[in-house]
Amino acid sequence: MFKIKAEDGNARAGVLKTRHAKIKTPFFMPVATKAVGKFVDSEDFRKAKTQCVISNSLILHMNVGSRTIDEFGGIHKFMNWKGGVFTDSGGFQMYSEHMLMGTTMNGVKFKNPKGGKKFFCTPEKNMELQHDIGADAIMCLDDMPKFGVKKERILESMKKTHEWAKRCKTHHDRINKKKQLLFGICQGGTFPDLRKKSAEMISSIDFDGLAFGGLALGEPMKKMFDAVKAGMKSMPNEKPKYLMGVGVPSQIIEAVKMGVDCFDSTYPTMTARHDSLLTFNGAIDIGKAKYADDENPVDEECDCYVCKKLSRAYMHFMARQKTPTGYRLRTLHNLRFMSRLMERIRKAIKIQSL
Ligand SMILES: [Zn+2]
Repeated sequence: MFKIKAEDGNARAGVLKTRHAKIKTPFFMPVATKAVGKFVDSEDFRKAKTQCVISNSLILHMNVGSRTIDEFGGIHKFMNWKGGVFTDSGGFQMYSEHMLMGTTMNGVKFKNPKGGKKFFCTPEKNMELQHDIGADAIMCLDDMPKFGVKKERILESMKKTHEWAKRCKTHHDRINKKKQLLFGICQGGTFPDLRKKSAEMISSIDFDGLAFGGLALGEPMKKMFDAVKAGMKSMPNEKPKYLMGVGVPSQIIEAVKMGVDCFDSTYPTMTARHDSLLTFNGAIDIGKAKYADDENPVDEECDCYVCKKLSRAYMHFMARQKTPTGYRLRTLHNLRFMSRLMERIRKAIKIQSL
């Protein structure tokens, strides 16, 4: 399922084989929360050479219905996407005050912001939703505390996350007809001792992959990486590791050096919506007046449609006009940048020059 083919220090390049895709690792997943990206669709992901996207099981269930997607033949068919798909459990939605009503040891109570319908999600129910949706890899339900809360709250989140992880695994094994991979998630905030403890507990269950949850929430970078370092020590080398929510290129490189294989973030799509075009020489704020008559491509080295066919002046004009097509084209370039970044990282690991 996961094969490491090259190593450079703690960094590794390999292949994660899923039911629908052979994903070259390390890899980055753009966010397709509702089975579609913001301003981009599956064809755009394909053009950007995206290998895998991440969707959200809870949001999909509330907006489409997990049974509807199952009856349609699964999320790949629904969104006409042949690459890999992960679904998150919805744990991240605990961050949304519009949606979260509370947690108990038995699960999470959500409210649909549209219409106010209540929904109690147990670990078993969450596995069933994610099995219906049919992603290649699914995530355990976890209890994600906000950044900056006291240690007692982190301990409580670990207790729930660990209990739910066991229940998710047991139920997943019982119903896993689509050969989906299940990733366990460790919590522990930015306390290295708690992170280590949580990583140990999650690693003791035979998950297909291991993830870091509850990080990249605005904490200082050093704290985040200290937590990752502490957790990594307890995780077996042979399992794929996923640092959830990380997408800033410099942070991806740092985490890859620690042995992380998988990432997701809204970073490339969100920056695109703020007129920012990513390049290996830093981001270009295309809305700035200096680009108004610049006939050069955004990035000469990039092979995306925007860089092959359009000028900085035209992209500047679209940014100033706030045309929806401009949002789409900037997103397309940034997605291709992320794929190129990961291509470079994999190559660097193979020649041991990361
Ligand atoms: Zn480009």
